[in-house]
Amino acid sequence: MKIMKFGGTSVGKPERMFQVAELITRDVEPKIVVLSALSGTTNTLVSIGDALSKGNKQDARQIIEKLDAHYQVFINELLHSDDARIKARKLIAEHFEFLQIILRISFNDALSKDILAQGELMSTKLFSVYLEEKGISHELLPALEFMSIDANDEPHVLDIRVRLEQQLAKHPDKKIFVTQGYVCRNARGEVDNLKRGGSDYSASLIAAAVNASVCEIWTDIDGMHNNDPRIVNKTFPIEQLSFDEAAELAYFGAKILHPASIWPAQQFRIPVRLLNTMQPEAKGTLIVEEAGSQGIKAIAAKDGITEVRIKSSRMLLAYGFLRKIFEVFEKYRTPIDMITTSEVAVSLTIDSQQHLDQILRELEPFGEVEVTGGQAIIAIVGNELTQTPDILSRLFASLTPVEVRMVSYGGSMHNISILVPGGSKIQTLQLLNKGLFGLD
Ligand code: ASP
Ligand code: MG
Repeated sequence: MKIMKFGGTSVGKPERMFQVAELITRDVEPKIVVLSALSGTTNTLVSIGDALSKGNKQDARQIIEKLDAHYQVFINELLHSDDARIKARKLIAEHFEFLQIILRISFNDALSKDILAQGELMSTKLFSVYLEEKGISHELLPALEFMSIDANDEPHVLDIRVRLEQQLAKHPDKKIFVTQGYVCRNARGEVDNLKRGGSDYSASLIAAAVNASVCEIWTDIDGMHNNDPRIVNKTFPIEQLSFDEAAELAYFGAKILHPASIWPAQQFRIPVRLLNTMQPEAKGTLIVEEAGSQGIKAIAAKDGITEVRIKSSRMLLAYGFLRKIFEVFEKYRTPIDMITTSEVAVSLTIDSQQHLDQILRELEPFGEVEVTGGQAIIAIVGNELTQTPDILSRLFASLTPVEVRMVSYGGSMHNISILVPGGSKIQTLQLLNKGLFGLD
């Protein structure tokens, strides 16, 4: 059994869906096909929720109507027979009726999750009608029957496995299953989701649950690249990465794979392959336990970073100081990304400003606190980096014109992170592409 996950752009146009149908019928291995919502839909559903939360029903109604119209056009291009079109319109109408009902009742957080789930529910239904029209035997599996999270929003592979096996056992003769990414049920049994971009996570959890031969993540780029192709001219796809390297890259802005999707595959030893729907023959990137080769593999950046620096002479020779500081961040559930210390100061970075004011208030008693927003972390990721000769001299030689504010080296064998002003991000990525990969 293998898993094939297709993202929003891979199903966002009827002709892309035609291609997905082709890709899932190229071999006879049984498979679970995990789909995102059509591109743009989840953002639109978010804006409906936002409008309703502000009591702006008129705006919400207009957005819903526009989305409905988009789906009508999509159906006409996707399907050819009258029967299939009528069936699809009926299925989609149920979802828009639901959205219309929501306009009339009072809005709350649980409802917003219901709204967000509509995208994947609709994309999988449309794809299923299309497969049916093409005579491709398959079964639509309801993710809400097997994908779940606990009271801390954590999924458990073994729970998912039990319920997914029950669902699969109902259709012993089927070889192709289609299901929704992203959506799940929470501990209260309500409709919930695995957070934005969570369809990759669904795919990886499903792959772990069925012990899949491979978890294929199909997007619109041919694998993970050595640098950000939107910023740097010459980049190339990386053939093989270890899970540890991929985890670093996924977190640091390499949008191609949701960071949470690494652990289920790694823990259950499922190879992950990143592939390109537009170029299905391209090798893409294989993610497995072994790194494949030593040295630098890739550079990635993360924007919107805030640096917090706490200076205190009380830190000199003191113990327990860092614990007290970390506790403040823990209290406000704000993850710390980078940290560097000197004998009298500690600098750390966070990527969420949500609770910054409260955090700063509580840090004040520890010393002088300085905050600088708008920074970027540049992560240099590879295998056994600390064993790679010259790496630091090459790194710093390339960075001469850049103001480097923090450096983190040795935290893991796979990562060197530097903090630079956000305005220097592009220049830094370009300089490193030249200095570390020899590419202009
Ligand atoms: N549709 C969801 C989103 O846009 C999940 C996903 O596509 O991965 O965030
Ligand atoms: Mg995605």
